[in-house]
Amino acid sequence: MNDYIERTIEAVKKKYSYEPEFIQTVEEVFRSVEPLVALHPEYEKYNILARMAEPDRCINFKVVWVDDEGKVQVNTGYRYQFNGAVGTYKGGLRFAPSVYSGIIKFLGFEQTFKNALTGLPIGGAKGGSDFDPIGKSEGEVMRFCQAFMTELYKYIGPSLDVPAGDLGVGGREIGWLFGQYRRLKSSFDNGVLTGKAPVYGGSLIRPEATGYGAVYYLQEVLNHFGESLAGKRVAISGYGNVAWGVAKKMHQLGAKVVTLSGPEGYIYDENGVDTDEKVEFMLKVRAMETPNIEEYAKKFNVPFYPHEKPWGVKADIVMPCATQNEIDMKEAEQIVANGTQYYIEVSNMPTTNEALAYLKEHCKAVGPSKAVNAGGVAVSALEMSQNAMRYAWSAEEVDEKLHGIMKNIYESSEKAAAQAGLGYDLVAGANIHAFERVASAMIAEGIAQ
Ligand code: GLU
Repeated sequence: MNDYIERTIEAVKKKYSYEPEFIQTVEEVFRSVEPLVALHPEYEKYNILARMAEPDRCINFKVVWVDDEGKVQVNTGYRYQFNGAVGTYKGGLRFAPSVYSGIIKFLGFEQTFKNALTGLPIGGAKGGSDFDPIGKSEGEVMRFCQAFMTELYKYIGPSLDVPAGDLGVGGREIGWLFGQYRRLKSSFDNGVLTGKAPVYGGSLIRPEATGYGAVYYLQEVLNHFGESLAGKRVAISGYGNVAWGVAKKMHQLGAKVVTLSGPEGYIYDENGVDTDEKVEFMLKVRAMETPNIEEYAKKFNVPFYPHEKPWGVKADIVMPCATQNEIDMKEAEQIVANGTQYYIEVSNMPTTNEALAYLKEHCKAVGPSKAVNAGGVAVSALEMSQNAMRYAWSAEEVDEKLHGIMKNIYESSEKAAAQAGLGYDLVAGANIHAFERVASAMIAEGIAQ
């Protein structure tokens, strides 16, 4: 136990006791960088840990809009610019009723390290709103996006802070947000947002990037153990954009994705999500005003288990792709009991700290979300480069760069853990490698932020 780390965690717990998700991620990251902190007395001298746990800037704002009945609605908007030491603030916007300061703060903290892992010049930020897009009409979502941007545009810019999508914010919403930004600014600064459609400067492969990147990372893990994806059974949760990218790439590489899920339950497809039609149908369901994955079960005649999570099925690989804290001890024990060897997190912080420790002990490999899902934001950074250059790479060029970035993230994480004397520990390795980059930049920039 390192005294400086423990004191800092205690201080964060006391100060932010009302934000448990934030405390969870701070404890996870800070405890796993212990060997690094022990080697660097200057971290304590410059109080790097406490400075990392404090966002550079937290913007909370009011969003007022009118619903289809003519009623005036009020939501809270958030943009937290967490750490800008290595580059432009970068991170998604989440629209979901569960959004509050603690969720934005945990996501912003995670984003800082995830973005550092990509090796690209992007700092960490996150934002969003407690607006619930489910059951809202197209007009309502558009008016909400416009009202949201009418305040947000004051705080973002192509070299200041570049938002993108996250849960509840896809290409459609990014388009409406950009339209309003352009109207307010009277200029075509399309580098201000990523995840745009290619017709106005979006990068090819961006929609697939998080899922593809996760599978590229998984391939490196399997390689390490002399195995390959062909024929493997994969259980995943979610059926949004990230799960779609995973399913699409798995289908190309001959693995079987046997489950998809939402809060409403899960489907089990023994043959796997193994046709283009099945893969694309996921997105059709997701785009419905009130999405329900039971539609997949009905269309393809497979079983649907209402209100259950998919972790009871036998699978070689488990990849949670839905949201935070999907896996607690009960689910972790189920996964291990089913003989799963590879536990690869895809959504942000899907595992409680206790469950993560258990899975690390019992699985051959655990891939941490901040490394596994970094392909999305990495391609966002490539989109920023393309916008700045007024140029567009081909799909093959972007995919190749994404592949290289994921390989590099895997290799540097593996190496960082080994050098710290931790053996094969991809979770600690990712934290250590990312932490070191952010800390070095902060020290180089002096006692500023
Ligand atoms: N929300 C995604 C993430 O968590 C994407 C962020 C981005 O592209 O800026 O990484």
